[in-house]
Amino acid sequence: MKKVIFTLAAFAFMTTACTNKQQTTGIHLENLDTTAVAQNDFYQYACGGWMANNPLTPEYSRFGSFDKLGLNNLEQVNGLIQDLAAKTHQEGSVAQKIGDMYNLAMDTARRDQEGIEPVKKTLDEIEQINSREELSEALGKAMDYSLWAMYVDADAMNSSMNIMNEYQAGFSLGEKEYYLDTDEQTTKIREAYVAYVEKMFGLFGFDNAAERAQTVLRMETRLAKAAYSNVELRDPIRNYNKMSLDELQALVPQVDWKVYFAALGVELDSLSIGQIPHLQEAGKMLADESLDDLKTLFSWQVIEGASSYLTTEIFMTSFDFYGKVLSGREEPSPLWKRAVGIVNGTLGEAVGQMYVQKYFPEENKARMLALVKNLQKSLGIRIENLEWMSRETKDKALEKLNAMTIKIGYPDEWRDYSKLDVNPEDTYYANLQRAAKFEQDYSLSYLGKPVDKKKWYMTPQTVNAYYNPSSNEICFPAGILQYPFFDMSADDAFNYGAIGVVIGHEMTHGFDDQGCQFDKDGNMVNWWTEEDKAAFDARTKVMEEAFNRIEVAPGVHANGAFTLGENIADHGGLQVSYLAFCLNEEAKAEKDRLQERDGFTPAQRFFLAYANVWAGNIRPEEILVRTKGDPHSLGRWRVNGALPQINAWYEAWNVTPESPMYVAPNERVSIW
Ligand SMILES: [Zn+2]
Repeated sequence: MKKVIFTLAAFAFMTTACTNKQQTTGIHLENLDTTAVAQNDFYQYACGGWMANNPLTPEYSRFGSFDKLGLNNLEQVNGLIQDLAAKTHQEGSVAQKIGDMYNLAMDTARRDQEGIEPVKKTLDEIEQINSREELSEALGKAMDYSLWAMYVDADAMNSSMNIMNEYQAGFSLGEKEYYLDTDEQTTKIREAYVAYVEKMFGLFGFDNAAERAQTVLRMETRLAKAAYSNVELRDPIRNYNKMSLDELQALVPQVDWKVYFAALGVELDSLSIGQIPHLQEAGKMLADESLDDLKTLFSWQVIEGASSYLTTEIFMTSFDFYGKVLSGREEPSPLWKRAVGIVNGTLGEAVGQMYVQKYFPEENKARMLALVKNLQKSLGIRIENLEWMSRETKDKALEKLNAMTIKIGYPDEWRDYSKLDVNPEDTYYANLQRAAKFEQDYSLSYLGKPVDKKKWYMTPQTVNAYYNPSSNEICFPAGILQYPFFDMSADDAFNYGAIGVVIGHEMTHGFDDQGCQFDKDGNMVNWWTEEDKAAFDARTKVMEEAFNRIEVAPGVHANGAFTLGENIADHGGLQVSYLAFCLNEEAKAEKDRLQERDGFTPAQRFFLAYANVWAGNIRPEEILVRTKGDPHSLGRWRVNGALPQINAWYEAWNVTPESPMYVAPNERVSIW
């Protein structure tokens, strides 16, 4: 399932104008590496101390200040869950469901004893498919295997209504490059993948495991070849193909779509197909691959989907590939973290409700809202002053900015979990199957209905934020409103540099290369004059090329086209928040405005706070994983790639042409 929102990561307020002497700078001096030269390597200077003080432990492939806050939230949520898990509760209560789901997740001894029994029924059902004619119905009913995904979301051309959307799927490694690239590293990963598939088929009692592994690779490669790349997937027009059911039947005749959707349990007469070439290829495969090979691929998908929820041996076999080979991790996360992750994933809003009651101070909401308003004003001023944009387009942009919905902390209405049955008599796997079905039913229940504008796409305990283009909304869950993003005791320089830039980042997503194709109501409607759009494209090209030049590992470059939206958002976030900060500072007396604290001017502290959000350590393997699959630039480059494009950073840190980070003023990115 793929819901397209634009996040801060693959994871204000302001205090009034007068300086409160009680406030700290929020800058943790131990995070700095003052042996480094700020103007030569700002990331090392601002974050080197943090990196030395927080070395990677065996379970992590990347650990940054972002993850550190995430871990803190996970520990808090764990405490809440443990309290429930230790007691008995009324059957059917949310407390019972949370407690039992957690206990099921923790019980590895039981899983080791049950072996592969919990998944046998699903595998047997696949075995019982006897003819090609049965495939349409089987795929419609299947929860755990498919060659494509279906999900309900707002219609991109009519954003107040939900429709069915199709999305490419069916290849386990996710990114097509893993199947097609021929460099040494990718070839090694592919070989390890085949060995992993073979071992897993053996563990699940299949014959001809080696042969089956080759079949899986061959078929997944076929799907991957037809799939869009991550860059192609960023084009909203190309990935929206609304058609009638009859048109779909003509486009992909190998599936009986009426039978398929009836088996899925929905009625529809039109839908949007995401990636036409991939779906056509999937249709062809259903006709020209042998039934045995198709069943092998489907069985593999079931095995993969179940691998974390069965025996320790199966779990570790999966970890050896995904954790070790792919990401360079040395050991899996401790069991309690995975268990909390499962509860967060299945009963997230119920947990979130408890979380905000205990850990989210209500006054944060009002302060954050005031900061968001300041940022909104500041982006408005910047739009007004753009010298490359016509009045006509400016008016539309301002209209969109002012129409943005702002969500802070937690939803107004909580999700109802009464229909989710968590039963400790059943296996862990069976309970997770039911939870998945509960999710699917929830999603499908929106089909053909108006979009629920109150719905949240992240839980309150999440350390992240998002912009949703189809509803033109920005959302900041309670989980992110803490240090290093937000510090109630710290002064403006810190908070504008940290959470202020995050807010500006999300707002700018409404105006990045994708967001700019949606209007104030979230419809994919062009509101640009041709000239203005050409000027915008030329300016974003400068950003794309700047990141293409960055070498993230020896011989490996960042993908400027893939990370373009996020880089525009970081750039806009910095510009907009810095202006908001300056407007706030101007109200202060000259001596307050320039006052050094902890040895830094307010402007310098703004950039230190920004950089500290992205402090982190990462393994070489994970650098490659993220460069292929994460639309966000790596932490180091969100600092050292972004700041050289910001004039104010040069002034604050007196960066001269001698600096290796220096970019000449006329070569710097200038968009929003
Ligand atoms: Zn983002």
